[in-house]
Amino acid sequence: MTEKIILLHDGRSRPPAIPAAFEAPTGELRDRLARPLRDLRISITDRCNFRCVYCMPKEVFDKDYQYLPHSSLLTFEEITRLARQFVAHGVEKIRLTGGEPLLRKNIERLIEMLTALRTVDGKPLDLTLTTNGSLLARKAKSLKAAGLQRVTVSLDALDDATFRAMNDVDFAVADVLEGIEAAHDAGLGPIKVNMVVKAGTNEQEILPMARHFHGTPHILRFIEFMDVGASNGWNMKDVIPSAEIVRRIHAELPLVQVDPNYTGETAARWRYADGGGEVGVISSVTQAFCRDCTRARLSTEGKLYTCLFATQGHDLRALLRDGHSDEELAAAVGALWQARGDRYSELRTINTDGLSGSAARKVEMSYIGG
Ligand code: SF4
Repeated sequence: MTEKIILLHDGRSRPPAIPAAFEAPTGELRDRLARPLRDLRISITDRCNFRCVYCMPKEVFDKDYQYLPHSSLLTFEEITRLARQFVAHGVEKIRLTGGEPLLRKNIERLIEMLTALRTVDGKPLDLTLTTNGSLLARKAKSLKAAGLQRVTVSLDALDDATFRAMNDVDFAVADVLEGIEAAHDAGLGPIKVNMVVKAGTNEQEILPMARHFHGTPHILRFIEFMDVGASNGWNMKDVIPSAEIVRRIHAELPLVQVDPNYTGETAARWRYADGGGEVGVISSVTQAFCRDCTRARLSTEGKLYTCLFATQGHDLRALLRDGHSDEELAAAVGALWQARGDRYSELRTINTDGLSGSAARKVEMSYIGG
């Protein structure tokens, strides 16, 4: 077993301490940089049916790869119970991720359970999900019926050969496009389509993708190729800066910048000057947005990560399974967020050689969700 595989299971996590005195959650929790807790991303499976070269490359995630045993995964009841504590601390948006979340059996049941939660202000949560789209045509209606509000679909190319090479399991573009339309018809819009742009691999797809989604209600978002995890062989030379992406699109389809929807929105928004809809760029490498980062991540086996690039999680499952009360769970989550000072991308940007800002080992995206 290689070092990369050991990383995924993050055996270094420990159960967090439960503070002796902690006030009841008020929904106004702040970390050390005064950032509130607003978003929770929950990875509900470490499995995926794609082998995208930047996320779960075949050489690492092969047939001998040891996925988490079912007993390690948080149950739906455990996920919902933990989510309730996060919501009490101010979370308003929950995104289900993976791996491929639609591979988790009976996901609709989990969605129903999360739909019942209410924010501190008594409002329904913004409940969404990121998927590779492969099962969306089949599941869109049942997801909507369960209470899901929106979906984000990952699609890295419109050219079938390029896409099949990137997902590395020969999955066709047409099937993902069918899933997007099914999700739209089911009322899971506005649908965001995420394209990770890797130099020399799919950068030639930027314009075809823009042309395809121009004039549709779907929002195409371009994401700079990131140094997440340890198995994708990241190098700064692989990054096409989002300013360059905007420049290329603008040259053919003029763009006008739009204000963010809310503080902490990861994508910079642009609309087509001709009224043909909207695109976004996520400058995770060239313009760090740590300052407004309000996201926590819960791994498949219940470890809390306060940054996508964290090297170590906090084992909330241990607290759950040791019989701690809701008050104790909320206190532990509160103390962890208050201690948070993560700003990995900013530090990487400061690091002028353009290489990863930390030599520390990172956990894989398929484990903590993107
Ligand atoms: S690097 Fe960490 S702190 Fe910065 S935006 Fe990403 S997840 Fe948030």
